[in-house]
Amino acid sequence: MRPPRAREDLEVCEREIDGRQVYVVRVPALSQYHQLGALAFAVLEALEDGKVAVGDLPRELSRRHGIRVSLVEVGRIVGELERMALLEVTPAAAEAHGERPLLCAELGRLRDCDRQSYLQLQTGLLRKWRPQVPLAARMRRLRVRLFDPTSILERLAPVGRLLFARRTLIVAAAVALFALGIQLEQAARLKLEMGNALAHPLLFLAVALVVTLLHELGHGLACHTYGGRVHDLGVMLMYLVIPAAYCDVSDAHFIEGRWRRAVVALAGCYVNVILWALATLCWRVLAPELLLTRIALAVIGATSVSLFLNLNPLLPLDGYYALEELVGVQNLRQKNVRGGWVRLYRWCSTLYVGVIVPLAMLHLFRFLVGRFRLVGLLGFLVLAGVSLRPLGLRAWRWVMGS
Ligand SMILES: [Zn+2]
Repeated sequence: MRPPRAREDLEVCEREIDGRQVYVVRVPALSQYHQLGALAFAVLEALEDGKVAVGDLPRELSRRHGIRVSLVEVGRIVGELERMALLEVTPAAAEAHGERPLLCAELGRLRDCDRQSYLQLQTGLLRKWRPQVPLAARMRRLRVRLFDPTSILERLAPVGRLLFARRTLIVAAAVALFALGIQLEQAARLKLEMGNALAHPLLFLAVALVVTLLHELGHGLACHTYGGRVHDLGVMLMYLVIPAAYCDVSDAHFIEGRWRRAVVALAGCYVNVILWALATLCWRVLAPELLLTRIALAVIGATSVSLFLNLNPLLPLDGYYALEELVGVQNLRQKNVRGGWVRLYRWCSTLYVGVIVPLAMLHLFRFLVGRFRLVGLLGFLVLAGVSLRPLGLRAWRWVMGS
């Protein structure tokens, strides 16, 4: 039997996560990213030319890197690399997946004499064998791909460079502070007019969808500005109720510098803050009866909800991912992760959950139920359910004793 061989189209970058060196490997044909430790990457490297048999790997690893590792461990790692689709597909693997003998034989033939056709066939098979996402998970985030935003992002490149320049960030922060001052000064009027605007839910929903698309485009633009590739933008329905949008910026793993990766994670919120501030200025100067004023109010409402959810450190959303990048720790939410930054995260979470969420929820409950009765109560329950879901799950596990 021929030795296993690493795929030739893989892309790799080195990163430091949780204080250790890891390797992020991209499988371009499947748009997948995997994180490998030093040992797994050393095995993958040793399989690069397909000349080292699994049985010879311990000796080879010892010769190349001075690593002592058992054959059993090496076998496990090779199995794992194959499961991640990082190794070339062999006729035996195709057979194990139940492919026809003719196709398996063709795969073996192409592998030796026609690399281009072999790579195409391999990609087709790997896509076909990709495990199905469970129905419950799909229902939680029902996605519909709209288009590849590459050409739009290329045209918007100058805007991206301007938007993410330090000076623009400072100006945006100043305008946002000014807008906050306006909202605090005019709080009573804002509350009254927001209620009137919400009485037209269709306009509000349409504006919210545009705001969400711009939020996602912000992530895409930041990723593109720093050299990442973005090929997937679309809309989705969260928990079968909340319309939202998505932009696949997984390529941010390949962007150098944790600050830049944090900016990609926060770019959607940054766009939200800009829209929120501009809408506040418009609302302040325009007459209340104008359609533009109602749109501005809908923008203020939609961006506020988006910021409230995305900056919740309990939810695996933008704020959480940015924090992970900044502190260089993965899975901050897991109990077994420790360190100074993790303590800071827990403090922030406690503050957010103990003070900010109850205050916001109380205000929202009074406003929605007081103004819209039953419909307002339903809207409140949906929002509370989404923003407090992790707490609910934790409480459920505690009650069930698991
Ligand atoms: Zn976002």
